[in-house]
Amino acid sequence: MKKVVKFGGSSLASAEQFRKVKEIIQAESSRRFVIPSAPGKRSKKDTKVTDMLYECYALAEAGKDFSHELRLIRERYGEIIDGLSLTLSLQEEFEKIEKQFLAHAGKDYAASRGEYLNGIVMAAYLQYEFVDAAEVVCFQENGRFDASRTNEVLGERLKNMPNAVIPGFYGANPDGTIRTFSRGGSDITGSIVAKAVHADVYENWTDVSGFLIADPGIIPNPEKIETITYRELRELSYMGASVLHEESTFPVRSEGIPINIRNTNEPDNSGTWIVESTCQKSKFVITGIAGKKGFCSVNIEKDKMNSEIGFGRKVLQAFEDNGISFEHAPSGIDTMTVFVHQDEFMNKEQNVVSALHRLADPDMVDIEGDLALIAVVGRGMKSVRGTAARIFAALAHKNINIRMIDQGSSELNIIIGVRNDDFEEAIRAIYNMFVLVQL
Ligand code: ASP
Repeated sequence: MKKVVKFGGSSLASAEQFRKVKEIIQAESSRRFVIPSAPGKRSKKDTKVTDMLYECYALAEAGKDFSHELRLIRERYGEIIDGLSLTLSLQEEFEKIEKQFLAHAGKDYAASRGEYLNGIVMAAYLQYEFVDAAEVVCFQENGRFDASRTNEVLGERLKNMPNAVIPGFYGANPDGTIRTFSRGGSDITGSIVAKAVHADVYENWTDVSGFLIADPGIIPNPEKIETITYRELRELSYMGASVLHEESTFPVRSEGIPINIRNTNEPDNSGTWIVESTCQKSKFVITGIAGKKGFCSVNIEKDKMNSEIGFGRKVLQAFEDNGISFEHAPSGIDTMTVFVHQDEFMNKEQNVVSALHRLADPDMVDIEGDLALIAVVGRGMKSVRGTAARIFAALAHKNINIRMIDQGSSELNIIIGVRNDDFEEAIRAIYNMFVLVQL
């Protein structure tokens, strides 16, 4: 059994957190490859080291004095090192960083030092080998991640190592300069390493005990999702639920490696399993609910629209020509509705309306704003009757008017549109119907 374990910033924010992490790693000898993030927030008001580095580098780039800011970063590591009674010194590393900042080595270089230094500390603490991600995570000249080269280099480097610490979030361009993934990118590094070493599991340790059925900001103490498929996860993350970096599923998914989301502060909780496919039934008919506010619907009416070949294409072209992507486009007899993001659409709405008239010659165009979309996702839905009926009943009882319904052909989700103002109440009504009231 071989596991890759990634620890997020809050799991490594202090010496106390480092101790928990070591205990977790030592509890199973299969936890051989460790991916640390940079130290995160110790409390709500605290600042992540990555943000401190960005700020510090912005001063350096502007030719301003950054010594105070750099000292604060150094103190964060000093506190961890002292708290763990390590004899490690980062003196030379910080001298190098200062020089590189003065030489304007780049924003990515600056941000990457958070993970780099944390990797050095973690390796010393665990007495594991340190492997600099700059040597094994490769980007192409055009800035894209080079998956095949990385897999080769990383696989070769880690092949005979019993264990190693590989910092997350960054790699190097072909010329050796540092490049980072987008924010939260240590999740991607963990996934890439799991693929390269053919891990059995990719454990992603964070500060929540897995994915929750609904946003805890709307539902107090929602139930946890035990097992979720990659496709369900994609639907929910797209609609705003976030625990993992979106791109982090791709490397492991292509290898059939499951991800296990775990909580560093509650290691006995089995967390959430993210898998390719499963015959395990979810506890409830639905796996999760997520949604987003801020959509607009553009209703287009035209008599005999259904018999006009190419009508849909012309309508969508009006959006495409204005650089607007659409979310959903349910259609009826003689009507078609296109859902778009309000902030993207607002400044261009009249251009779109005139393009619609020019291209599709509709009888009427009607725009409605301030709408929210809610996705009710569940692999179990397709084999259960009455799911849609229960959603509609739940909303009807709360006097919530449904503005749109869309069921994907995969029968993995039902998407409904409601007014922004009804959003939270609608999510509560659906949650109560499926999770609290069990038929
Ligand atoms: N430290 C980086 C960030 O704050 C990357 C990560 O934590 O995954 O975005």
